[in-house]
Amino acid sequence: ETEEQPITRRHQVKAKGSNVPSHFETFEELRTRFSLPSLIASNLEKYGYSKPTSIQSYAIPILLEGRDLAAISPTGTGKTLSYVLPTMIALDSPNSKGKKEFGSGARAVILAPTRELAHQIHNECLKLAEGRKWKIILFSKATSSTLADKNVRDKVDVIISTPLRLVASLQQGHLDLSNVRHLILDEADRMLDSEFLDQIEEIIAACTYSDIQKSVFSATLPANAEKVAFGVLRDPIRVVVGLKDT
Ligand code: ADP
Ligand code: MG
Repeated sequence: ETEEQPITRRHQVKAKGSNVPSHFETFEELRTRFSLPSLIASNLEKYGYSKPTSIQSYAIPILLEGRDLAAISPTGTGKTLSYVLPTMIALDSPNSKGKKEFGSGARAVILAPTRELAHQIHNECLKLAEGRKWKIILFSKATSSTLADKNVRDKVDVIISTPLRLVASLQQGHLDLSNVRHLILDEADRMLDSEFLDQIEEIIAACTYSDIQKSVFSATLPANAEKVAFGVLRDPIRVVVGLKDT
């Protein structure tokens, strides 16, 4: 008989790669180690994120140290926050503040295979962003046409989309991904399979920022998808979370 486990139960974690950053145990630690803004800290608390899950405690420092990552962790273990939290920290203030070093246009792109998943990711971003005016766009036909206006486009912070939607907009010339510093593929087993591969490659090619950080998240990563992922990632760390044998 299986007993339902709380989401923050400890799992077996394997992290492989060069100079793997140490993991953390409490969100409090992120305040001192990565200057987690107090607004984000209070949003975490507000939405009941009191303690990181296993994948979060490994993935978050890796991403905050700017490393590429392939993260494999079972469904329901909190992969979304593993990339949403470091993304929001890395963004610093909204681009509408016009800081020169932010460049213009989206600094982060999160891709998911379905509109429904993209919608869920968007909601997670909005929770952490509550209280600050980041422009976090769930890509749709309607939003992509508003981006035809360069003034609107330049002030976007984060884009969440399915690959198809983004490629359509790229092909119309309504989208500039040259300022994207964080590219995240969720459900990477599907995203790196033949259904989406051409689109993903087109998006990666449009992300021309030289110091771009890429990460992939998935519950499983079949050998073919892993091979594609490691062709795209730079000096990546591979983190695998497994259920502990009982
Ligand atoms: P996955 O993508 O790995 O399947 P999700 O990111 O969808 O998992 O998270 C599953 C559920 O767990 C969501 O309802 C999410 O809000 C919740 N959750 C994630 N991280 C935490 C946490 N640190 N503490 C409590 N709940 C969490
Ligand atoms: Mg998920």
